[in-house]
Order: sequence, then structure tokens, then C-alpha cells
Amino acid sequence: MAHAGYRDNEEAATLAKKAITEGVVMKVLKLRCELKQHLQELFFKKWQNLWANGNTGRSVHKVLKTVSLKPVFWTGEEILFVTGHGPFSSFLNRFHLSDSDSCVCGKVGDPIHYATSCPLTLSWHVRKHSTSLESLWYQRVLENPNSRKRIINMIKFIIDNENIM
Ligand SMILES: [Zn+2]
Repeated sequence: MAHAGYRDNEEAATLAKKAITEGVVMKVLKLRCELKQHLQELFFKKWQNLWANGNTGRSVHKVLKTVSLKPVFWTGEEILFVTGHGPFSSFLNRFHLSDSDSCVCGKVGDPIHYATSCPLTLSWHVRKHSTSLESLWYQRVLENPNSRKRIINMIKFIIDNENIM
């Protein structure tokens, strides 16, 4: 009986030790997890704040307002379209690669002009601003697979015919 009692005590002690160790481990893991989550939240907040109030990447900011670690799959043509850094008269003129920011048709040759109103790119036009917000228009165009296809083909056309555009 005494022997059995001793064994029971020993077992109880072992179990208690185990429970404490596991409990501590669980607590540490939980704290670590919470800390990680907290740091992640802080990081995103700071990143979002920098992105919202920064000076660079403003052309992309108009389409992507919220920071995210999820990759955005844009083709080269779509990147040219969103950033405006492409074979557009407006861009070429800004960087002194062309004397005028006008398209051959006479209007200012920015990406929206080619995408919505230029007679030379009529085949690929997407609907004009249904909203006064340019950023919302960009977002809608890039959310729509059909519009995206049109934009990609239009940019390819402009690149192929740069000498006459
Ligand atoms: Zn034009």
C-alpha cells in the first residue's frame, strides 16, 4: 500500500511537472503568436501609412490603395498603362524625349486618352470615366478581364506603331 502510494505520488509529481511544462510552453507559444500578430499589425499600419502619404509610386497608388503581401499579376503592358511610363506622348514629353505631349490626333496623349478616346486606338477602347475619380476608373478597368485584354492589346499596338503614333 505504501509502495503503491509512493508510486502514485511519483506519478502525480511527474504529471504535475509535465502539466506545468506544457502549460508554460503553451503560454509562451501563445504570447509569441500574439506578439507576432501585433508586430505584423504594426508593420502593416506603418506600411499603409507610408504608402498612403508617400511621394513615390503615386500612379500605382491610384489603383492599389491598400498594401498587401499578395502579389499583383500585371503584364508589362498593364504596368506601362498604370504607371503611364510608356510610349505615350505625355510621358515622352515629360522626359524631354518628344517636343509635344500631344497625340497625333491633337489631344494630350496620356494612357486614358488612348484607352478611351483616341481614334487611332478605337478598336481597343474601354468605357470612359463613369465616375469623376480617375483612380476608381483605373481600378475598375484592371478588375475586369475583358478591359485588361483590351488595354494589353492596345499598348502592344502603340509599341508596334510607335513611329507613327
Ligand atoms: Zn489620340
